[in-house]
Amino acid sequence: MKMDDCIFCKIANGQIPSKTLYEDERFRVILDLGPATKGHALILPKEHSANLYELPDDTAGAVMQLAKKMAYMLREKLHCDGLNLMQNNGATAGQTVEHFHLHIIPRYLDDGQNINFVHGEPSQEELEAVRSEIVGND
Ligand code: 5GP
Ligand code: ZN
Repeated sequence: MKMDDCIFCKIANGQIPSKTLYEDERFRVILDLGPATKGHALILPKEHSANLYELPDDTAGAVMQLAKKMAYMLREKLHCDGLNLMQNNGATAGQTVEHFHLHIIPRYLDDGQNINFVHGEPSQEELEAVRSEIVGND
């Protein structure tokens, strides 16, 4: 399904031009317009899903295989020192475009980016409370 008012549907399906790194029947990989680092790319499925929850299972699997392919390509061509994958769901998590996309962010020594967590320090009891909230006590 294509959404008429979705910018990533239009980009993925070629109605709006983009800096494309890769394309096949199901996906387009583009350069992010506001890159975190040199080579910051987005994997866009051509079929519209708003987020991970809506993404068909087979597409989800294919996205990760394509991420690996792109990781090799970016490392070979840009000589990055590392790479982050990021995928935001919901405004609270930083999602600004409601068409599923996976960020592929090459990392370079001293690139000035800070894509890291602020780590908490829960007790074992607190971790256990979360575990049982998610999966129960059995
Ligand atoms: P989100 O915050 O939803 O995870 O990521 C959206 C990303 O899409 C941002 O990194 C933003 O820079 C990028 N972006 C937004 N609009 C466009 C566009 O029209 N073209 C391209 N290439 N990237 C876009
Ligand atoms: Zn869309």
